[in-house]
Amino acid sequence: MRKPFVAGNWKMNRTVEQATLLVADMLPGLQTVSSVDRVLCPPFTSLMVVSGMLAGTEIGLGAQNMYWEEQGAYTGEVSPLMIKEFCQYVILGHSERRKYYGETDEGVNWKLKAAFAHNLIPIVCIGETLEENEDGRTADVVQRQVLKGLEGINKTNAEAMVVAYEPVWAIGTGRSASPEAANEIIGSIVRKNLAAIFGEDIAAKIRILYGGSVKSSNAKNFFVQSEIDGALVGGASLKAAEFVKISEAAVDN
Ligand code: PEP
Repeated sequence: MRKPFVAGNWKMNRTVEQATLLVADMLPGLQTVSSVDRVLCPPFTSLMVVSGMLAGTEIGLGAQNMYWEEQGAYTGEVSPLMIKEFCQYVILGHSERRKYYGETDEGVNWKLKAAFAHNLIPIVCIGETLEENEDGRTADVVQRQVLKGLEGINKTNAEAMVVAYEPVWAIGTGRSASPEAANEIIGSIVRKNLAAIFGEDIAAKIRILYGGSVKSSNAKNFFVQSEIDGALVGGASLKAAEFVKISEAAVDN
């Protein structure tokens, strides 16, 4: 019922020249996986060139962050108006932004509203840290991130958004969550809270991804889980063949 969704978060990797080569390398393979929504999220500096390369394909383009104001004296920030010149998607609330740049649930909420106001589809990231996990606080943390991050969002917008459950301890560590445990958290905490806010029908339509050390060798184990609709992929999205294989693994689960 929910179309599978695979997004590649390149983080702060690849110059424009390298991005061009990487996209050229993965494009033929990626284009064959049309039953999956595929999205590339390169750094800001490559958005223009990659959007040119993706023109005429069904592959989407996303930014990795944005500010909530449209313009003004905000040195170093990039606005929704600038993002939407090239992108259909924007990653918001990634754990690296929460950790290194002090992003809060409230800030994520402002960005989310700005994204919707500009017809950008947000990929909203949530997930507990290792310490929170070990303290048995996963459910509380994830619930808080959902309730505060999505406060005041209307149902129509909610239906279009994508949520990524990314346990922080699994990101970039090579230590992925167990697919069954991720499925349980997504079903019994994330989707359950989405249902509490937006109703069962809307919650059943929202795509929820798993993220954290997904690679071609483990992707299918996540995609066969009933609550997991795809993946937000970091490191493995920088390898053309890997990212294509992960997208292929999302077909028919
Ligand atoms: C991410 O950056 O969102 C991510 C999941 O990274 P990795 O796949 O490298 O763990």
